[in-house]
Amino acid sequence: MDVRNILYGWKNYLDKNEVTEAVAKQRATICAACPHAKKGMLLTFVKDELKEVEGYYCNKCGCPLSAKIRSNDICPEKKW
Ligand code: SF4
Repeated sequence: MDVRNILYGWKNYLDKNEVTEAVAKQRATICAACPHAKKGMLLTFVKDELKEVEGYYCNKCGCPLSAKIRSNDICPEKKW
């Protein structure tokens, strides 16, 4: 996990634009079907319009999915 990528992802989470959200939506669909997406207790309060990843993190890299899908990071399983 590159922390800068995740910080960039949080910036995009807060400051959404159409391109980012279109890509994020595709990634969210893939993550939602992935067994590595897990519900995170600490992420309960992170709201997301993309309900399929709301409150979830990736247990491969430990990243919150709301930020990861909006970042320049890569999927550790190369699914996106
Ligand atoms: S980032 Fe990749 S490995 Fe992690 S939950 Fe999404 S699809 Fe699965």
